Amino acid sequence: MAIIITDECINCGACEPECPNTAIYEGADDWRYSDGTSLEGDVVLPNGNAVNADNAQEPISDEIYYIVPDKCTECQGFHEEPQCAAVCPVDCCVPDEDHVETEEVLLGKQAFMHPDD
Ligand code: SF4
Ligand code: SF4
Repeated sequence: MAIIITDECINCGACEPECPNTAIYEGADDWRYSDGTSLEGDVVLPNGNAVNADNAQEPISDEIYYIVPDKCTECQGFHEEPQCAAVCPVDCCVPDEDHVETEEVLLGKQAFMHPDD
């Protein structure tokens, strides 16, 4: 399951540099699959979708920091617990019930984005 940032976010920015997958972006910023990963050019995601990893994608929120579900692995493959949730001063990084995934799937996403780690 991915983590989601709720509207309790105070835009402090503490979580963004902690994410090993560069899945966290400031509100209104574009995001890319290639940011902080080994992905580049045309790729087929583990979920079967074909994308260009270098293309800028629309922000998921314009007001608060947001997490890209496709890039979030709950920190699986890097850390014991979600790092964003660990540092957030207002505890607004919570499990995203709309993006429930098994540990196997999360580790598969991590290996897909970081094949050389
Ligand atoms: S749980 Fe980990 S991978 Fe997901 S957004 Fe938070 S820091 Fe990034
Ligand atoms: S650490 Fe929490 S309050 Fe700060 S930007 Fe991230 S989600 Fe928002």
